[in-house]
Amino acid sequence: MSRLLLVSNRLPVTVKLDGEKVAVTPSTGGLATGLKGPHQQSGGLWIGWPGEVSRFTESQRRDVDAQLANLRCAPVYLTAQEVNRYYEGFSNRVLWPLFHYLLDRIPLHSRDWETYRQVNEKFADAVVQRYEKGDVIWVHDYQLLLVPGMIRQKLPEARIGFFLHIPFPSSEIFRILPWRQELLEGVMGADLVGFHTLTYARHFGTSLLRILGVQIAVDRVKYRGRDIRVGAFPMGIDAKAFASCGELDEVKEQVARIRQQAAGAKILLGVDRLDYTKGIPRRLLAVERVLERNPSLRGKLRLIQVAVPSRTRVDQYEQFRQQVDELVGRINGAFGTIDSTPIHYLYQSFNQKELCAMYRAADVLLVTALRDGMNLVAKEFVATRTDDDGVLVLSEFAGAADELGEAVLVNPYDVDTIARAIVQALEMPEEERKVRMHALRQRVNDFDVHHWAKTFIETLEQTKIAPKPRALRISSEDELSEVVSVIAEAPKLALLLDYDGTLVSFVGLPELAAPGEALRSLLTRLSGLPNTQVHLVSGRKREQLDRWLGDLPLGLHAEHGLWSKDGRGQDWRLVREVPRDWKEKVRPILNQFATLVPGSLVEEKTASLAWHYRMAEAEYSAHQANELYLHLTEVFANLPVEVMSGDKVVEVRPHGISKALSAQRVHEMAPDALLVALGDDRTDEDMFAALPQGSIAIHVGPKPSMARFRVADVASVHRILEEIIRRRG
Ligand code: UDP
Repeated sequence: MSRLLLVSNRLPVTVKLDGEKVAVTPSTGGLATGLKGPHQQSGGLWIGWPGEVSRFTESQRRDVDAQLANLRCAPVYLTAQEVNRYYEGFSNRVLWPLFHYLLDRIPLHSRDWETYRQVNEKFADAVVQRYEKGDVIWVHDYQLLLVPGMIRQKLPEARIGFFLHIPFPSSEIFRILPWRQELLEGVMGADLVGFHTLTYARHFGTSLLRILGVQIAVDRVKYRGRDIRVGAFPMGIDAKAFASCGELDEVKEQVARIRQQAAGAKILLGVDRLDYTKGIPRRLLAVERVLERNPSLRGKLRLIQVAVPSRTRVDQYEQFRQQVDELVGRINGAFGTIDSTPIHYLYQSFNQKELCAMYRAADVLLVTALRDGMNLVAKEFVATRTDDDGVLVLSEFAGAADELGEAVLVNPYDVDTIARAIVQALEMPEEERKVRMHALRQRVNDFDVHHWAKTFIETLEQTKIAPKPRALRISSEDELSEVVSVIAEAPKLALLLDYDGTLVSFVGLPELAAPGEALRSLLTRLSGLPNTQVHLVSGRKREQLDRWLGDLPLGLHAEHGLWSKDGRGQDWRLVREVPRDWKEKVRPILNQFATLVPGSLVEEKTASLAWHYRMAEAEYSAHQANELYLHLTEVFANLPVEVMSGDKVVEVRPHGISKALSAQRVHEMAPDALLVALGDDRTDEDMFAALPQGSIAIHVGPKPSMARFRVADVASVHRILEEIIRRRG
């Protein structure tokens, strides 16, 4: 097991002054519990802010450091101003509401970005300082979005994971952020990016495409020469601990007390930090509506609402508190009686035993968050209910809803629906309650917080360590001369040549790229060499290749390997039967984009459709190309096609068709020949990847490539080919 460096805004400790003495005690939050095992067992280190210590003397600080070191923690100290701007100002005033879709909570103008950046730098430096080769780094949450990228700059070969504990919003929301690009680039410093749900991962992928122009393929994305994995890792809780806590005698006694005080009334429970994302006001209105509509429930219903004080220094929270206070007062005023009030409102925090007692005493738990990354309270309630009773009413906008389908799911914005769900939960027959709760509990037990931490760390350890980014450097004259010698001296040789961008330069209209006399002569002389085959491997249609080059002694491969012709005078062969009926659905969309973007056009081939935009205005068309790509991948996810975006083209083609087919075909025809492939774009990478071992791949131009050799341009290709003729002739 590698040593684990955990990085989070807060260290999992509480630092207090007990008189003159410093007391550092480990805290018991969900994250701390889940990561305790890996942290200790790997001999790791937890790096983060220990909390406010500005009032501490120098010697007290040293004491804090020593005690932290004993707990394998390393402090990042922050000044009061840094806390104010980085944590409260930017993280909690800007990122928190935006990531939860609550745009009206964002200040009109934030000035705290610079401090956010600086503090992220501070965290990154603290990690770099303590990093040892082979360590695995795991960065947590929205306060530290820039940290992975900053570490990556200084430690290009480190293994870095990032996990976001809050939702990742739709790209329409995310792109509102003025700092969207820097934030995404920061996260993309990681090798593995984890979210609670697949939806968040998908939103992240869409933002990557819209903002950075990079495409995610299912769960992988290539960025600046590195492979990054993106995935869903739903966080769990310490289910065993909650189950056994609920069984303690003292907890059971407290359960009895809570029930007794409710005097036969049904108990609804809400447990939240007092945060505007938790949906408390609408929940209260729903309870009010239940009481309005069901007079028989008046005096027979009690909502215990725990509201844990939170972020009290952020003004939004202060105003929100007043709003909730007023609502509670109004409802209690209207529906209270001399001996009961419907809402038992507790603005304070409770320990685990007290919470478990409330979970066990409740008939219904109400989780109506407007948005919540996961919501652990829902899972804790389920884990505690070893009696298989109780009903969970759960917001469909909490990440937990993806896993807890047996709950009564509600739209938290819809007060009427919540009210109906409350009545449904209260009236639910015992048998149904038990079936639902049992299924829920099973899942919460199986996928607990230990499972979460283990899966993330294992996946991170398995991700390919970022290779040293291959220098995008042109191969030297010496290297090229050496490789040309190998090619010239091969007893048998087969050349696979891409056409556009490799043998001829790009021109605006594809029809204008006809081969000139010089190129035709070059190809003729090449294929006349002893023991040498020459194959042209193109994305173009076979008719066009025939028209231009059909009279030369070449193998031709059209439409990215779908059609092959082994030589002059031979017939074209369809290499593979492919479905074509999808074209009816895709064609109108491409046509629509062709109308929308002046200078772009649709090309139809046997088994594929392509939208070309080389002649269109660069920025606008690139933007539209992203939109088209997104639209096609989302709408046609179920069709047997893949959407490729190449050089100024978005192409839709059946699965399994690529230039790899041509490489395989040529290898079959000439099994003992040295294969040499030259190409310039994404589609040529498929050909390179399919070459048998010992072959030679040469990339043309500046893009990232897996090829060993690289030349600058079409002219260099011609020079190399001439050199081969000279030496092999
Ligand atoms: N919690 C607590 N004391 C309380 C109320 C809540 O310790 O009085 C804990 C609760 O057990 C849960 C966490 O606070 O583990 C809340 O996590 P959740 O994911 O539900 O919401 P968050 O506060 O992270 O937005």
